[in-house]
Amino acid sequence: MRLGGLYSKIVAFRFIHVWIMDFTSKPKEKAELNKLQKRLRRQTGQAIADFNMIEEGDKVMVCLSGGKDSYTMLEILRNLQASAPINFELVAVNLDQKQPGFPEHILPAYLEEQGVDFHILERDTYSIVKEIVPEGKTTCGLCSRLRRGSLYGFAEEIGATKIALGHHRDDILETLFLNMFFGGKLKSMPPKLLSDDGKHVVIRPLAYCKEKDIEAFATAKSYPIIPCNLCGSQQNLQRQVVKDMLQQWDKEYPGRTDIMFTAMQNVVPSHLADTELFDFKELKQSEDAFNKLNIISI
Ligand code: SF4
Repeated sequence: MRLGGLYSKIVAFRFIHVWIMDFTSKPKEKAELNKLQKRLRRQTGQAIADFNMIEEGDKVMVCLSGGKDSYTMLEILRNLQASAPINFELVAVNLDQKQPGFPEHILPAYLEEQGVDFHILERDTYSIVKEIVPEGKTTCGLCSRLRRGSLYGFAEEIGATKIALGHHRDDILETLFLNMFFGGKLKSMPPKLLSDDGKHVVIRPLAYCKEKDIEAFATAKSYPIIPCNLCGSQQNLQRQVVKDMLQQWDKEYPGRTDIMFTAMQNVVPSHLADTELFDFKELKQSEDAFNKLNIISI
């Protein structure tokens, strides 16, 4: 079958599916979806404002993997773009890493249907990873580095001023714990980051959004999800352990993950132990307070 014919069949199927869903969904479900969309939109807008993620004239490269997070990010950003008081451009980019079985028709069909500007970047990082990493060893570290390098390089090629990634609040919390447990560092993935070479500004517009909201939104929207385990490698097991731990905590103590995320925005260096961040050596009694104490006791 010609690829064009296949695309149109997929587009037609999605159109009918979305139409049937729309026609049959109950008013209560519609209201719920509306509420969810508003919440995601509000939280994304807030994160963009708090970190000055997008500015007038920006060309934002939206990295689209085909997972629930990146589809949601693209939709919410397009939604915000339509009513934003500033002008900025959105370009979706998918990196086809040449994993066996990667359904390369799905994203172009979806993006054409949505009328989104897009590029499919083809880089066979899969073969490089297979060649370099010994059998049985985890491939995710090298794979992620190669992916990052390819995307950064492409952003430069197309003149993108920002690179948007679909990480959400729960990814950020998981990374915080992973770094504490295994890296001995109190650090996570920031909502806005300057690449090491200073050339790229990476933004995470979903930084304030909860994974379960994104999951519910993606299900309601029937996005054509591409599974993330096509490479045959097991995803980072420790991340799954930390994810389970956080979910269990949140079940036992509702709201705990909200509080932990708030804590990340309220750092008190003088009450930690990093001598680079706070000058503990110079910490001395305040003369004023000492003099006052003497006056009182006289
Ligand atoms: S699971 Fe596969 S595709 Fe994903 S980062 Fe690991 S090696 Fe790469």
